[in-house]
Amino acid sequence: MNLIDTLFTNAKFADGSVNDFAISNGRITSIVPAGSGSTSGVAVELGGALVVPGFVEGHIHLDTSFYGDAWRPHKPCTNGFDVHERVAFQAQNMAVSAPMDVRARNQLDLCIGHGTTQMRSHVMVDGSVGLKSLETILRVREEYKGLIDIQLVAFPQSGILASPGTPQLLDEAIGLGADLVGGLDPASFDRDVEGHLDVVFGVANRHDVDVDIHLHDMGTLGAFEIEQIAARTRALGMEGRVAVSHAYGLGDISPDYLKKIADVLARSGVAIMTNAPGARPFPPILALRNAGVTVFSGNDNIRDSWWPYGDGDMLRRATTLGYRSGFNIDEELRVAFDVVTVSGAKALRLEGYGLRVGAKADFVTLNAEHIPEAVVGVPQGRSVYKEGKLVACDGKIVGKRR
Ligand SMILES: [Zn+2]
Repeated sequence: MNLIDTLFTNAKFADGSVNDFAISNGRITSIVPAGSGSTSGVAVELGGALVVPGFVEGHIHLDTSFYGDAWRPHKPCTNGFDVHERVAFQAQNMAVSAPMDVRARNQLDLCIGHGTTQMRSHVMVDGSVGLKSLETILRVREEYKGLIDIQLVAFPQSGILASPGTPQLLDEAIGLGADLVGGLDPASFDRDVEGHLDVVFGVANRHDVDVDIHLHDMGTLGAFEIEQIAARTRALGMEGRVAVSHAYGLGDISPDYLKKIADVLARSGVAIMTNAPGARPFPPILALRNAGVTVFSGNDNIRDSWWPYGDGDMLRRATTLGYRSGFNIDEELRVAFDVVTVSGAKALRLEGYGLRVGAKADFVTLNAEHIPEAVVGVPQGRSVYKEGKLVACDGKIVGKRR
């Protein structure tokens, strides 16, 4: 809790207006035209910097990154992308890596330094690691209270039916402190769509938690699984509480089928997470949004066993989304920015998000004229505020030696 009233002056908002805004107890209490704000507390001059809400990192893996650890050269799969093989490579790398808490802190510092104030991280919970990874990341989450809000997904990286004991572990993970239940390729990994979804939605229903499922399956198989997930969502009245991460199949089906699936997603309140990776087909952002689907994003893998890319910067992720989507006009660039901010907040069901009176004072200053310029220019030299308190400056956590 920040008990000192603070007035931030000369903040340029996304609509071009320049404002003063006051913070009390970590919340925005007033927004007035620049020059008309007053305070008995502290005043912080923002000098006309563009002020935007904190970025929403909607999909990351805090347990498996090697950022800040030794460089791990990427190993390609032997015969095309294969989730089983990648999981095996990951286990080999993890066995010789720095401690998980050290690596998770490295990654959190990186993300917060760039302006992320809210995050959803998947954490492995399955027969291979049990609850060990979750226990570690829960401890790290506690340390970072006041710097970033973190949702944790109990993620069955080795499958649910294919990994003995995992259904019970997912139940226990929620009891331990995970916020959501995850899933992984019900068809191609577990080879039993109904059986896999029975467990995932069973856990969600028993514990009243949201769902976020990894789905790499392509084409009509992936689209079919999405239809099954949407049907389960509606059956349990979970509209607005379910997400499908990656959903590559949506970038790989006919326009007519896409339209049908998009309508189903919108009607079922199932959000889609895409990070627009590499040379893969990925969900068409505009078509989905135009149909009423919430599309959000995340960095996903950062220097891990899946790929070497990623820098923890959601603004650069917006650039990637726009670049790969062929976005050029200002309105489209604003869409890319919305995906990493407002839409992310909607998908994660964040309370008190945005630059408005009553919201949490989570914001970032950018050296840019406006949002479209920020998306293409990815300006550095940002200041990051969490509930009105400066937590990072120029990419470094305030008060922390690196
Ligand atoms: Zn992932």
